[in-house]
Amino acid sequence: MQTGPDDVFRLRQSPNTCPGGYSLHLYCKYENPDHTFSEFPHEYEDGATYAQAAGHAKKDGWLIHRNGLATCPKCAARLRRGEKPANPA
Ligand SMILES: [Zn+2]
Repeated sequence: MQTGPDDVFRLRQSPNTCPGGYSLHLYCKYENPDHTFSEFPHEYEDGATYAQAAGHAKKDGWLIHRNGLATCPKCAARLRRGEKPANPA
């Protein structure tokens, strides 16, 4: 064990904080040829909470459903135009 003037256990003068954040990774629940290969997961990592991350996603046009699934902006636009999925639930 090292001993000497540098062997001191003490609190740092300027300790780094440990910032937290919320990461939301979204996948669309539809199959759609308009999706690109690298489109999912679409990630929102600029929020500190679920509400902030989901708010950013919704502003971009995502629909986040109560059952945990999501609809991407491209598919949401098709639904708004009145298009129906080929296999309606
Ligand atoms: Zn989609």
